[in-house]
Amino acid sequence: MAGYHSPQIDVEVRLNTNEAPGAPPEGWREAYAAAVADIDWHRYPDRAAGDLRAAIGRHHGVDPAAVFAANGSNEVLQSLLLAFAGPGRTVAVFEPTYALHSHIARVVGSTVAVGSRGPDFALDLAELRRVVDDGRPSVLFLCSPNNPTGMIEPEATVRAALALATETDALLVVDEAYGQFAPWSALSLVADDVPLVVTRTFSKTWSMAAARLGYLVGPSWVVDACEKVVLPYHLDTAKQLAGTLALDYEPEMRGRVAELVEERGRVEAALRELPVTVWPSAANFILFRPETVEGAAVWQALVDRSILVRDCSSWPRLDGCLRVTLGTPREDDRFLDALREVL
Ligand code: PMP
Repeated sequence: MAGYHSPQIDVEVRLNTNEAPGAPPEGWREAYAAAVADIDWHRYPDRAAGDLRAAIGRHHGVDPAAVFAANGSNEVLQSLLLAFAGPGRTVAVFEPTYALHSHIARVVGSTVAVGSRGPDFALDLAELRRVVDDGRPSVLFLCSPNNPTGMIEPEATVRAALALATETDALLVVDEAYGQFAPWSALSLVADDVPLVVTRTFSKTWSMAAARLGYLVGPSWVVDACEKVVLPYHLDTAKQLAGTLALDYEPEMRGRVAELVEERGRVEAALRELPVTVWPSAANFILFRPETVEGAAVWQALVDRSILVRDCSSWPRLDGCLRVTLGTPREDDRFLDALREVL
């Protein structure tokens, strides 16, 4: 099988991996530097990541026993699939969606049942039921807002998937890597007797992609299962401190989200003036398809102008599509000017 591949090309404008355009708050940098200076480097980290889980629990109003943290939400997903999928079990995904869901499922030896979203990328409930009836998955993935479409999963769809998961003894995983942009969160449905977990990350709205930190909120029995499969001391002390301290800066994080939403409106409006199809986004990226020049050629022409976006043109159901992450207004203007020129 092919490995997961996201080109890291040395360009001036990087708009390809949905990172935040700016650094975390200065106050956080100072607090983190001071905390790192006090680390007992000869000791293993707190294996239970107690302070971090308590801080995440406070942030979401849940018990720390409902929280599992790992090296990016990708490692959370991997832990979930090691515990609840694997050989002889099936994982359901609904394309187009985040490629790592099916990729990790295959890496751990699971069968992948692929459902299809409708022409507008919405998930039809009959298709949901068909995939569950045919594949009997032990894990079902949803992603809201969905990457790369930017669409929010309506609450009714998540509730319907949860009802099916409950009926069939499956686990529903709702990936909310971009959850802070959405008007509602599946976190409101999490309870200890419900087979639902919600995954989140520090990589996007928290401006901390370099830290590699993510977590899930879910039933304590899911957390226990993840702890069985993850390597001991997987979360280093510096990272635990980074995440714990970041949560003190929630108003700043919300401010960044508000700025990005405004910028998204501006970039989306500018794209609509061009010969491209644009999908309305509820996240910090926009999916679009150039209509006059082939997507892959546009991607290369942008790289030639030192601008990197994501080439989704060969992904399932995304013929010719590209995905651009919102950057600073200056970066976005560079992208828009270059795209105008190319088209
Ligand atoms: N889920 C989704 C939907 C994503 O887009 C990403 C990052 N591209 C991740 C999870 C993984 O993020 P990380 O491992 O940095 O937390």
